[in-house]
Amino acid sequence: MFLADFHNHTRLSPDSEADPLAMARAALDYGVSEMCFTDHMDLLDFKGTPNLFGGWGPYLDQFHSLSVPGLTLRLGLELGEAWENPDLAARIVSQPQLDFVIGSVHNLDSGHGGMDIFYMDLSTEEKCYDILNLYVDCLNLQAAQDTFDVLAHVIYPLRFMNGKAGHHIRLDPWYPRIAEAFRTLIAKDKGIEVNTCRGRTVEDWRPILALYKDCGGVIVTLGSDAHRPQDMSKGIREGAGLLKEFGFDLATYEKRQPKFHKL
Ligand SMILES: [Zn+2]
Ligand SMILES: [Zn+2]
Repeated sequence: MFLADFHNHTRLSPDSEADPLAMARAALDYGVSEMCFTDHMDLLDFKGTPNLFGGWGPYLDQFHSLSVPGLTLRLGLELGEAWENPDLAARIVSQPQLDFVIGSVHNLDSGHGGMDIFYMDLSTEEKCYDILNLYVDCLNLQAAQDTFDVLAHVIYPLRFMNGKAGHHIRLDPWYPRIAEAFRTLIAKDKGIEVNTCRGRTVEDWRPILALYKDCGGVIVTLGSDAHRPQDMSKGIREGAGLLKEFGFDLATYEKRQPKFHKL
């Protein structure tokens, strides 16, 4: 089965120290034949302060220094909170060598404090519900942007609400608003990713994939979101199995254009 990992990080991301060659070799060892580096560029830092973009130099240098026989490498970016500064986002993604852009929502919008949800008070379910109300608004803000190819990890807040904080929150009450974001994406020929969170969240995607399919979505990428070689591509095989079950092909991107692979 063709496997691709289109979401992972290296030491160019502030929260990773990973050597890119070690990440690429780990992907190949896992059985992946195409991977895309998607280091972070969030327009807000974790406290909500605007980030500046230092230019493409280090990303291009790293990318061009790598070659791994048997593995196709792509240049990508995980661009967060693009709605905060659409002009800057457009300048960043105008890089012609870019193959793929993931549009992410890690933070609430600056009008609501702009913090990364990871750092917010998730101690009670009520607090989580308030955050989710605002989060789905941000998903819709992000979906309306033109500076990305697939919407990242739609279930991102559950990583921390159900993981770290130990709640049992489901997203069902927000499906109508999530479906609205999906319809915006689909109308613009954009897709979603199944983010396996290093193999931890594969099954959690089942209802989201069903909703996306109901809305008419066809573009789905897979990403492990690994930040260390030992996590690289975890869950990709299971994710591909899930896509196959739903009748999706696996999407990859080259120069911002999707390609579809039968599973
Ligand atoms: Zn992310
Ligand atoms: Zn990521």
